[in-house]
Amino acid sequence: MTADLARPALPLRPELAGLEPYGAPQLDVPHRLNVNENPYAPSEQVVADIAAAVARASTDLNRYPDRDFGDLRADLAAYLRAESGVALDPAQLWAANGSNEIMLHVLQAFGGPGRTAISFAPTYSMYPEYARDTNTGWVVGRRDEDFSLDPAVARDAIAEHTPSVVLLASPNNPTGTALPFATVEAVLDAAARVPGGCVVVVDEAYGEFRRRGTPSSLELLADHPHLAVSRTMSKAFGLAGARVGYLAAATPFVDALRVVRLPYHLSAVTQAVARAALAHSAELMAQVGSLRDERDALVGWLRERGLRVADSDANFVLFGVFDDRRAIWQGLLDRGVLIREVGPAGWLRVSVGTPAETQAFKDALVEVAAL
Ligand SMILES: *Cc1c(COP(=O)(O)O)cnc(C)c1O
Repeated sequence: MTADLARPALPLRPELAGLEPYGAPQLDVPHRLNVNENPYAPSEQVVADIAAAVARASTDLNRYPDRDFGDLRADLAAYLRAESGVALDPAQLWAANGSNEIMLHVLQAFGGPGRTAISFAPTYSMYPEYARDTNTGWVVGRRDEDFSLDPAVARDAIAEHTPSVVLLASPNNPTGTALPFATVEAVLDAAARVPGGCVVVVDEAYGEFRRRGTPSSLELLADHPHLAVSRTMSKAFGLAGARVGYLAAATPFVDALRVVRLPYHLSAVTQAVARAALAHSAELMAQVGSLRDERDALVGWLRERGLRVADSDANFVLFGVFDDRRAIWQGLLDRGVLIREVGPAGWLRVSVGTPAETQAFKDALVEVAAL
C-alpha cells in the first residue's frame, strides 16, 4: 500500500480498532440510580472544609505536589484502622485517581505482555479493559448460579492458567455478593503456588457497605505479601467526583506500584480534597449505616414481590429475572428513574438512593413490571 501523505494513517494498536470508550449513560433525569454513587452530596461543613483546604493548597500550585503523599497515606491508614480494626503502616498504602488507576498500576507492575490476569464472571466490566490497555492476557472463569465463587473452580483455573494477577471484587459488582474468607484464602493459596508468583487484588470498592459479620480482606494482609485490597472514596465517601482510590498491601507490593506511577500523578488539589473529606469520616460513616438499612429494606421489598434478588453487601441491588429487561429499564427511564442494564441476561441493577429516590424506583417498578 502506498502512503497517502496528505492523510497519514493512525497506527492504532490492532486490538483497539473499532472500539468505543466504556461508560454508563450519563442522562439528566430526576433519579439517577445507575452508577452506585452515594446519593447524598457532601454536607455544608464538608464543602467548606474542602474549599478551605483547596484554597490553602492553591497557594503552592506553582510547585509540584508531594510525589509520595505521605500525609494522605497516613490519613488513609488511620481511616482503615477505624473502619476495619486493621493497623497498617502508611507505607502500606497507595493512592491514585480512582481505584481504576490503582488497578492500572497493579497491571503495569505485575501484568504485561506474555502474562495473564484472571477474574470470575459476572464481575466488574472494567477488568478486561485494564488487561487490554496493559497488554496483559485476560482469562475469565465463572461464578456459580448464586454468584458465589467455588474455591475448587478458582483453584483449578489458577493452576491451569498460571496468571500473575487475580482480580476478585468483594462485594462484587454487579452482583453485590461478598466472598467468604475461605474462598479468598483458597485463592491466595493457589496464587502462592504459581511458578514465578501471582498477586491477588481484592477490590473492596463497596467494602464499607458490607453487612455485619462479612469480613474485610484487610484482615488477611498481615499474613499474605501477595495480597492487596483496593478501596475507593467514590462510593461510601460520596466523593466520586474527586477521583480518589487507594490500595493496602505489604510495603514491597506498594513499592512496585511506585515504580510505574507517573510522576506527580496525584495532584495537590486532589490530596487536599481527600484529606479534608477523611477528616469527616465519622460523619460520613453514619450515613453509610442508613444506606445499608435502606439496602436491606429494598432487598426485602423486591423479594416480597416474587423477584429474585442477589444477597447484597454493597450499595446496590441486582434483581430479576425479566424476559425483557430492556423494556423494564426503558419503562423506568420513561418515569424518570435511571438504573443499569448489566449482569447476566434478565437481571437489572439499581443503586440505593435516598428514601425518596427508592420510593420513586418502587412506584415506577410496580407500574412497569405489574408487580
Ligand atoms: C465503582 C467501582 C470502583 C471504583 O472506581 P473509582 O475509579 O474508584 O471511582 C472500583 N471497582 C468496582 C468493582 C466498582 O464498582
